[in-house]
Amino acid sequence: MDAVYLNPRYLEKVARCPVCESAESLVAYGVMEHVSVMRCRCGVFYCDKRLTAEGLAAYWKDYLGNEHNADETERALRRRMYLVDFDYIKQFLWDKSKILDVGCADGLFLDLFAARGHVCCGVEFGHSAARAAAQRYPVWEGYFPELNIPPDHDLIIFRGVLQYLQKPRLFFQKAVSLLRQGGLIFITAQPNMDSYCHRLYQNKFRLRLTPCDCVGFSPKSLSGEFALLGCRLVGEKFFYEETPYADPERDIAAVCRALRRRRSGSAIVDLSPPFWGNMMTLVFQKQPDADAS
Ligand SMILES: [Zn+2]
Repeated sequence: MDAVYLNPRYLEKVARCPVCESAESLVAYGVMEHVSVMRCRCGVFYCDKRLTAEGLAAYWKDYLGNEHNADETERALRRRMYLVDFDYIKQFLWDKSKILDVGCADGLFLDLFAARGHVCCGVEFGHSAARAAAQRYPVWEGYFPELNIPPDHDLIIFRGVLQYLQKPRLFFQKAVSLLRQGGLIFITAQPNMDSYCHRLYQNKFRLRLTPCDCVGFSPKSLSGEFALLGCRLVGEKFFYEETPYADPERDIAAVCRALRRRRSGSAIVDLSPPFWGNMMTLVFQKQPDADAS
């Protein structure tokens, strides 16, 4: 997949913050040759180069091939993460909630909701994944902001997708417009740019931005975005020890090594380990007076 990023013909310059459109961002650090991560005044981090439409097509073609070839261990770990996420969000649901998963892939996360009697549907950009999910659920295939989807959902899921969005506000506005009053947005498996590891490791943060994963949020920046749309933060969680990736002693030792290097003025060489705060899970609720349309 790196080959796609490294091919200049697939890259275009990003002159303004992809979220608030301010041009007053500062360089935070370099992330690869000729590519920097910027920090905007709105709190968002973004890459100053991103994939063109042609580059995105090449990337997702590779990605789907790699997903298909992901080994069984990796897939089993991901299924355990789906359960961690589901066990958290289920407290917010009642019988037969209407669920929309934006970026539903082949529908495996939705399966957990469907098994408890919830009414599920999905949105998916990738054609083969959309077809796989469509064997079990109604699926809209294509670019979410432009799809014609009936409203009044109880829960809209963004699981591990926000970092790919070149125009996040279009997705947020669309999602809020499709929620009933009191409905929920569930954002999870999302890198947290305010995490300790991102601050310490910067370009060695394992979930660092690239021209594909081109935008990074924090609880604060997302709360600001959803407040503009009349939504309030009602749930916040940072899974680490619950996850199959955690090994606290190993991870603390790795962070100590990195901290020693930084204090002695040396560059950090290893990528950050799984750690407290790296990944965020947020729940926003559409308030009664919200008017997203
Ligand atoms: Zn901004």
